Amino acid sequence: MSPVFAANWKMNQGPSAAAAFVQTFVAAFAPRGDRTVVLFPPALSLSEVRFRLTERPDIHVGVQNVHAEEKGAFTGENSAAIARDAGAEYVLVGHSERRHVFGETDAESARKVAKVHEHGMVPVLCVGETIEQRERGTTEHVVLHQLRTGLSALAHADMLGCIVAYEPVWAIGTGRTATPDDAAAVHRVLRGALLDEAGAGASTIPILYGGSVTPANAATLLSADEVGGLLVGGASLDPTSWATICSA
Ligand code: PEP
Repeated sequence: MSPVFAANWKMNQGPSAAAAFVQTFVAAFAPRGDRTVVLFPPALSLSEVRFRLTERPDIHVGVQNVHAEEKGAFTGENSAAIARDAGAEYVLVGHSERRHVFGETDAESARKVAKVHEHGMVPVLCVGETIEQRERGTTEHVVLHQLRTGLSALAHADMLGCIVAYEPVWAIGTGRTATPDDAAAVHRVLRGALLDEAGAGASTIPILYGGSVTPANAATLLSADEVGGLLVGGASLDPTSWATICSA
C-alpha cells in the first residue's frame, strides 16, 4: 500500500500565498509513483492551486469541509457538488476543529461522508480522542464510535473508497505527538473495525496519523504498524518542510 501524505492548511494561504507555495513545493518534490500527495487548501484557494498544478497531475487536491445538504439556503457554505465542480478529489470530514469548534456531530459527519462519496470524491474521515477521554481510558470507545457512525450511511463496498485519519485531539497543533506505539495501538483497533464493517478488502483502506507531525518525526511515525500515511497541519504550511515530509 503506498502511503498518503495529506496537507491540511486550515484557514491559511490565500490564492497568492498558495501559488507561491506550489511553485516552491513542486521544485522541491519530484513526481514519484510510490506515494499519494494531497493538498487541502482553503476552498477559495483551490482553483489557484489546481491551476498551478496543471503540470503535476501526481499532486491531488481536496477541500477541508462540505455541507451535508445537496444545495440550498446555507449562506457561506460549500456543497460536495460545488467542491467536485471546482476540482476537489478528496474531502476532509469530521476534523477535530469541525467537531470541537463548530460542533459537528458524528451523525453530520456520516451524512457528509455519504454526500462526498455520492459526488465521486474520497472522504477522509477524521477520528480522535480528547486528552480527558484518553486519561479516562475511553480512547478505543470514542474512536470506534466516530468511525462506525461516520461510515454508517455508506454501503459496505463503498467504505473501501474512504480514507480514515486518526488524529488525537491532544496532539493537534500542540507539538505533542503520539508515540509510534500509541499510534499503532489505535490504528490496529481501527483496522479491526474496518475489517468487521467492510470485509477483507478493508485491509487496503489507508489509515493516516495526524497530530504535530514534523520533518523530524514523519519517518518514525510512518513506520509504525498500520500507519498508512500522514495528515499534517502546521508543518505542511512551509513548502520545504512539506517536501521533506512527503519524501519520508
Ligand atoms: C491537523 O490539523 O489535521 C493537524 C494534524 O495539525 P498539526 O499537524 O498542526 O498538529
